[in-house]
Amino acid sequence: MTQYTMQDPRTQYPQPSFDKQVQEAPGLAKEMTPKPDHGEETYRGLGRLDGRKALITGADSGIGRAVAIAYAREGADIVMNYLEEESADAREVIRLLEAEGKKVTAIAGDLKDETFCKDLVNKSVDAMGGLDIIVSNAGKQTAVEDLTDLTTDQFDATFKTNVYAPFWIIREAIPHLPPGAAIIVTSSIQAYQPSPHLVDYAATKAAEKAMVQALGAQLIEKGIRINAVAPGPIWTPLQPSGGQLPESIPDFGKQVPIKRAGQPVEVAPVYVFLASQEASYVIGETYGVTGGNPTG
Ligand code: NAD
Ligand code: MG
Repeated sequence: MTQYTMQDPRTQYPQPSFDKQVQEAPGLAKEMTPKPDHGEETYRGLGRLDGRKALITGADSGIGRAVAIAYAREGADIVMNYLEEESADAREVIRLLEAEGKKVTAIAGDLKDETFCKDLVNKSVDAMGGLDIIVSNAGKQTAVEDLTDLTTDQFDATFKTNVYAPFWIIREAIPHLPPGAAIIVTSSIQAYQPSPHLVDYAATKAAEKAMVQALGAQLIEKGIRINAVAPGPIWTPLQPSGGQLPESIPDFGKQVPIKRAGQPVEVAPVYVFLASQEASYVIGETYGVTGGNPTG
């Protein structure tokens, strides 16, 4: 049985309850129980991104890792960015894809830094001989129960990571992107249904959605498409490393109509579609992958 076998989606992947688990941010996929499914064993490419050159942030784990695996198997060269502390997760992705003969360049570094974001774009262009897909996926999520405990430092770091970094990366990349290029930003269900303890995070995810809508109309003038994805609860290190309050982890995903967390491998196909030429008429859109929670 793989994701290509017809089956009941409610029981396709692990369901709550999960073991209690807490990690330091940014967290590692290899420390999670159960281990998230990023499609390592199963994703089958169809050549939909043959010859493309993709920069993916947060590609060491979670949604970004699933996208990196899918894009590489669809035929793209990859530059992956992540934080130095996540090198153990990143090495797993690099080893897997290089063993399959794929071209992967790893560039660790902190996206809260404008100069690093600009360097990342330029090094990606150098490494791949161009750039035609950007997946701005890295994100910071830290749950805080009471607004009086939400520090300015956290508020600032959440906005720098989730809003400023995509702005800096996309702005730097524009002169390099040919017509036909695609940009995909990871927003969230939080842009539509903000949780009371995710004030800063929800605000950034709504900002990303609005930024994509505004840029959709602007960038198509250059033949570039930009879209967003709004995932619901997905089983990634973001959640047990402070994204949720620790007591919420065992029941993570139970609240959505499908009553389970999604796996990164279930989100990646939308990123493949949005990057591919099949999505030629899809512009400024935000695709929900939410387990049934309405985004309208
Ligand atoms: P994840 O922890 O696997 O990925 C997030 C990545 O962001 C990390 O791997 C890290 O490399 C990167 N990152 C964070 N801060 C960074 C910084 N300062 N510099 C460079 N990289 C940094 O978790 P994920 O859930 O796959 O997260 C990916 C995206 O999905 C995020 O934008 C998140 O907001 C979004 N999202 C996740 C969920 C969910 O339930 N997991 C739901 C909706 C949206
Ligand atoms: Mg990670």
